[in-house]
Amino acid sequence: MKIAILSRNPKLYSTRRLVEAAKQRRHEVRTLDVLRCYMNITSHRPSIHYKGQHHEKFDAVIPRIGASVTSYGTAVLRQFEMMGVYPLNESVAISRSRDKLRALQLLSRKGIGLPVTGFAHKPDDIEDLIQMVGGPPLVIKLLEGTQGMGVVLAETHNAAKSVIESFLGLKVSVLVQQYIKEAGGSDLRCMVIGDKVVAAMKRQSRGGDFRSNLHRGGAARLIKITPEERSTAVRAAQTMGLNVAGVDILRSNHGPLVLEVNSSPGLEGIEVATGNDIAGAIIEFIEKNARSGKTRTRGSG
Ligand code: ADP
Ligand code: MG
Repeated sequence: MKIAILSRNPKLYSTRRLVEAAKQRRHEVRTLDVLRCYMNITSHRPSIHYKGQHHEKFDAVIPRIGASVTSYGTAVLRQFEMMGVYPLNESVAISRSRDKLRALQLLSRKGIGLPVTGFAHKPDDIEDLIQMVGGPPLVIKLLEGTQGMGVVLAETHNAAKSVIESFLGLKVSVLVQQYIKEAGGSDLRCMVIGDKVVAAMKRQSRGGDFRSNLHRGGAARLIKITPEERSTAVRAAQTMGLNVAGVDILRSNHGPLVLEVNSSPGLEGIEVATGNDIAGAIIEFIEKNARSGKTRTRGSG
């Protein structure tokens, strides 16, 4: 097959591993910088140009679209979909998961366990918003934060109130969320491919931080997850419509709670912690599923 990887940086671990895994399985693979792709939006023959050249046809595309280029990146991916190229994850599914509010609303609709979460743009009553999620300590998040940036723990009522007021004063919408103390600064990262969790790791924060992101210094180790956690992770990925996802789950006193569903999960942490060949499993999934024009939406979402 001919596979395109949409990635801004061919040197990234995840990109390198996907290239390697595709070559090992005798596929032709090219890494394209999504910001260098430009498009011709015509009714009959949508096309993509790259660095001055018209694109040859790919069979499948693996989107690795960073949070800072979601809008343009998903537009390029949508163009591939319109051309009938099979996307590992569809553009609409990526957009759904990138917006934390939209994602949580969709997950709640399916009855998936979530921390109690409030959302506000300009509340008349911040006190009420704070009470709504059970009072302090609580977690305040930017809608499109990633790698733990834009996530704040407010331990007291006054801290919560002033942080929320500051964000809203800057016209930034925030999520206000119940703090799951019993998770003890750790979470589970479940790597879902298709309808299976192919690897799971526990991430533990260090240095007293409550955020367990590896980018914030968290440490990862292999863990065995429960059947309930397994099915929660798979349902969360399917609710987003993602074939491949990194589902973050907190272990609470009343069962697994989904924090977020990542559409371009990093491969390094999970491959190193578990010893599993995740890149290979992703390429195998494409081999089994890629058919020309086989997208649910063909870019219509
Ligand atoms: P990001 O997209 O920046 O990774 P997350 O929502 O995943 O944002 O939060 C980052 C980390 O902060 C999580 O991995 C988890 O360790 C911690 N965390 C986030 N929300 C909560 C919460 N409600 N209760 C306890 N810990 C949380
Ligand atoms: Mg996260």
